[in-house]
Amino acid sequence: MCSAICPRDAISFQYNEEGFLYPEINRENCIECFLCGMTRACIHLLHFDFKGAFSFHPLSFIVFPILCFIVLQDCINIMKSIKKS
Ligand code: SF4
Repeated sequence: MCSAICPRDAISFQYNEEGFLYPEINRENCIECFLCGMTRACIHLLHFDFKGAFSFHPLSFIVFPILCFIVLQDCINIMKSIKKS
């Protein structure tokens, strides 16, 4: 997810000592855009951590509800198309 949104291809994943994939940021390629902060802020909102979300990106309080609406609308459309067939 993170590496897919990065415009500079600065994120790669490495296995840590416990065998889990862990993101690594190439600081030379990173331009410190808003995308990483927005992703982390939305994840914090998913966990109802409003303070954490605000610290990562204040606009997440606008973007996250819009994303939820779009996803919900898509789910409803998919369910309608399944019901028709
Ligand atoms: S902040 Fe850096 S690593 Fe994150 S998406 Fe932007 S360029 Fe990529």
